[in-house]
Amino acid sequence: MNIEQQIIQLRNELREHNYNYYVLDNPTISDFEFDQKLKTLQHLEAEHPEYHDPNSPTLRVGGEVTKNFETVAHTYRMYSLDNSYSKEDLQDWEKRILKQIDDAVTYTCELKYDGASMSLTYKDGKLQRAVTRGDGFQGDDVTTNVKTIKSVPLQLKGGYPPFFEIRGEIVLPFAGFERMNAERIAIGEEPYRNPRNTASGSLKLQDSSEVAKRPLECLLYSIKGERLDIKTQFEGLQKARDWGFKVPPEAKLAHSMDEVLEYIAYWDTQRHQLPYETDGVVVKVNDLQQQEELGYTAKAPRWAIAYKFKAEQVSTVLNEITYQVGRTGAITPVANLEPVELAGTIVKRASLHNADQIAKLDIRVGDTVFVEKGGEIIPKIIAVDLPQRERDSSPTKYIAHCPECHTELVRKEGEAQHYCPNSEGCPPQIIGRIQHYISRKAMDIEGLGGETVALLVNNNLISNYADLYELSKEQVIPLDRMAEKSADNLIAGIEASKKIPFERVLFALGIRYVGETVAKKLAKHYKTVDALANASVEELITVDEIGDRIAESVVAFFSEEKNKKIIERLKQHGVQLEISAEKLANQTDKLAGNTFVVSGVFLKVSRNELKKLIEDNGGKVSGSISGKTNYVVAGENMGPSKKTKADDLGVPIISEDEFLEMID
Ligand code: AMP
Ligand code: ZN
Repeated sequence: MNIEQQIIQLRNELREHNYNYYVLDNPTISDFEFDQKLKTLQHLEAEHPEYHDPNSPTLRVGGEVTKNFETVAHTYRMYSLDNSYSKEDLQDWEKRILKQIDDAVTYTCELKYDGASMSLTYKDGKLQRAVTRGDGFQGDDVTTNVKTIKSVPLQLKGGYPPFFEIRGEIVLPFAGFERMNAERIAIGEEPYRNPRNTASGSLKLQDSSEVAKRPLECLLYSIKGERLDIKTQFEGLQKARDWGFKVPPEAKLAHSMDEVLEYIAYWDTQRHQLPYETDGVVVKVNDLQQQEELGYTAKAPRWAIAYKFKAEQVSTVLNEITYQVGRTGAITPVANLEPVELAGTIVKRASLHNADQIAKLDIRVGDTVFVEKGGEIIPKIIAVDLPQRERDSSPTKYIAHCPECHTELVRKEGEAQHYCPNSEGCPPQIIGRIQHYISRKAMDIEGLGGETVALLVNNNLISNYADLYELSKEQVIPLDRMAEKSADNLIAGIEASKKIPFERVLFALGIRYVGETVAKKLAKHYKTVDALANASVEELITVDEIGDRIAESVVAFFSEEKNKKIIERLKQHGVQLEISAEKLANQTDKLAGNTFVVSGVFLKVSRNELKKLIEDNGGKVSGSISGKTNYVVAGENMGPSKKTKADDLGVPIISEDEFLEMID
C-alpha cells in the first residue's frame, strides 16, 4: 500500500469509528486504539501535505480561529414553529389541516430538542457549510466550529443525493454539561446556567479548538433540497440515518391525532430519562406533498406544530439552609428540601446561588416552596407559598462566619458571592487547592486521588501542594488503605509530575480565573513564572485575551508572601516553572505585531504547523481577512473569495517559501 492509500484507509477507518462511537453510541475499539490511529494519521498528513483533505478526521480537534463569523443567506428560509399547549390546540390545528387536505393525514412525532438550530449543507457527501438560524433568512457561517462536533459527519456514507441541506439542533447533553461546570467551579468561575445557552454560545467561540473540547452533539430532523426522492418526513429521517447522521430513534409515525396525543403523554414523563434536554414534541404532517399544499404562514409552516411541555413544578418544605465552601473560598448556600419527586428524580437539594437570591425570594426555613426543573439541571426554587408560612417564622439571616473554620466572611463590591478569606486555614480550601493541583488536566499525578489528598491533609502530612514533594513513603504507608505498592506509586507519581510543562503547572497553581487556556497564553507570553510574577495589571491586560479580572487576580496571587514561598519551594524541587529551553529555542518575536491569514494547502509544512510557526514567532493567526490582516499566506488552492478580498483590501499575499524566509 502506498502512502496515499494508507492515509485514505486510516481516514475511512477513523470515520467509521467516529460514527460507531458518536452516532450509534456503540464503539468497537478502545479509546487508546483510536488515539493511536489518529496519531498515525496526523503524522502521515503532516509529512504529506499534498494529500490534504479539509474533511479529514484529524481536523476534528479544531484550531482555526474566526474573528468575525460571515453572514450568509439561507437557501431555504429557516422558519419558526407555532406552539400548542393542550389537546384542544392540537385538535384545532388538525381541523385547519383537514379543511385543506382531502386525503387521510398521518403525522411524524419527534421530540423538540432544546439547543441551537443549525443548517448543514452537503455536496457530494462532504460537509460544505454549517450556518446558524440567525433571523431565519440569514445566519452565521460557523463551519469551522461545527466540524469539531463529532456526531456531525464530515463525509457521508453511501446513497446520498449530490447536494442537499439538512437541519438539526446542536445540543449539550446533561452529562457533558455537568462535567464542564465541574471544571469551571474548579477554577472559581461561575457555572453555566443551562445547556441550551451554553450550546449556542459554544458555536460562536472564536477558537475552534475550544469548541472541540465541548461535548456537543448534533441531532438532525429535516432534509431540504431538489429531487431528493423522499416522500415523507419519516422516510427522510430514516434516510438521514443511513447516510450517517444522528437522528434520535424516538421519532414515531402516528396514524391519528389520538396516537399523537399518546406519544405526547408518554414523553411528557419519559423525556427525563433522555441524555439531553427536550422542551416539547414537534408534530409534522408526514406526507411531503401534503406539506407543500399546506405551505407556510408569515412565520411558520402550517404543516407542523410544536407542543410545549409544562415545566414540572412541585411544592415541598425547606428543612434547612446549609453552606458549602469551595476551593476558592466561595460560599454557596444550598436548600435542603423534604425529598420530593420531580421530573422523574427525587429532589432533596436546590441551589440558592447567593445571599441576594435568598433575600429576593425571602425564603425561610420551614417555608413551603415551589421547586421547578426547567432548562437547568439543578432544580430551582421559584417562589415561597406565602399563605402557608408559619406565623412565627423570621427572615433568613445569611451566615456571617465560615461554616468550616468560623472565620468572618467577606463580600467584595460588585460580587454576588461571599468568601471565606482564611485560605490558609480553612480545610475545604486547603484540600480543594491540592486536589486541583493533582487533577488530570493539571499535574495529573498518578497514584494520588482526591480522597487521599483529604487524608494527607487531615493527618497533617501536607497543607499545600509544595508539601507533596517532601512526602516520604514511610509517612504514607500507615494511612488508611495504603500499602507498600500504592505508597510507591504515589511517590513515583509525584516525582513524575516534575516533568509536567510550565503551562500546566501554571494552571495547577489554582490562580482564580486562570483556566487551561489562559494559563497557556500567560506561559507563552511570559515564559517564566518570575516574569509573570513581576507583571503589573497594566502589562497583563496588553496580553491577548487577558482582561482586568484575570490580570487583577494574577497580581493578587503573586503579591501574597505565602504563594511566593510555595513557588520558591516548587522551584527547588524541580517543578517546571519556565518554558523548557527546547521549546524556547523555537520561539522568536520576528513576526510580532503582524496578523496572518492562512489559506490553501502547503507543501513543506502542514497548515497547523504553519500556524504554530506564526504563533511561535510572535505573530497572530486570524480566520478571515480584514483591514487588520498584514499578510495572507497562500498555498495551493487558495479560496478565490479570499483572494478577491485580499486584493480589495490591498493585503499582500505571500507564498509558503516567502513566509519561511521571513522567520528563517
Ligand atoms: P421555536 O424556536 O420555538 O420557534 O421553535 C422552532 C425551533 O425548534 C426550530 O428552529 C428548531 O431549532 C427547533 N426544533 C427542535 N427539535 C425540532 C424538531 N424535531 N423538528 C423541528 N424543529 C425542531
Ligand atoms: Zn473557612
